[in-house]
Amino acid sequence: MSFKQFQFMAQINSNISTCGYEHPTPIQEKAIPEVMSGKDILGLAQTGTGKTAAFALPIIEKLAGGPRGNVRALIIAPTRELAEQITTSFKELAADTGLRILAVYGGVGKKPQFDAFNRGVEILVACPGRLLDHLNNHDLKLTSVATLVLDEADQMFDMGFFPDIRRILKHLPSKRQTLLFSATMPADIRKLADETLTNPKEIRI
Ligand code: AMP
Repeated sequence: MSFKQFQFMAQINSNISTCGYEHPTPIQEKAIPEVMSGKDILGLAQTGTGKTAAFALPIIEKLAGGPRGNVRALIIAPTRELAEQITTSFKELAADTGLRILAVYGGVGKKPQFDAFNRGVEILVACPGRLLDHLNNHDLKLTSVATLVLDEADQMFDMGFFPDIRRILKHLPSKRQTLLFSATMPADIRKLADETLTNPKEIRI
């Protein structure tokens, strides 16, 4: 199988080649067409499987031709390391599309993050605590978010982030696409999935 099957725009195919990806990984094969079709996804997958590109590529394809200035895709991740990794992948895969990608997490100044919101961000990758902090300060709006990704949900549960995530969800449009990824699916994660996903396609690899 080849990335050609997904019929991404030429710039994205060129970025995929620049990353050195020759063939989609199994989760990319399964998830990309479903995400492109607008379905919610419950993905049971570990890191190292290529799951970042599985959600990043269809998000970039959908947003590249769209309006600019507001956050259209929000990715929530448990740690700053993971947020940075996801942001790096998005920046590589969205190179020369003009889409602006920002990572937001605690332990660093809020002002540069606030200034970046004001310049305009289309793809926001955030850890829950700092994102909620900005929302409580009215630093940004999430009313234009069309796609939400909850990455490594089991780790976010273990770190005690679910109350913050539920507060963040109140700032998002209820009509949106949601993708939830987790390496394991205990009852608490299943419950969050039931609350946030509508008729999801379950993908296991
Ligand atoms: P992830 O599971 O998203 O953390 O990705 C694991 C690693 O696989 C990262 O270093 C990616 O750059 C790499 N990767 C993702 N998709 C592909 C692909 N289709 N072919 C080769 N490497 C890939």
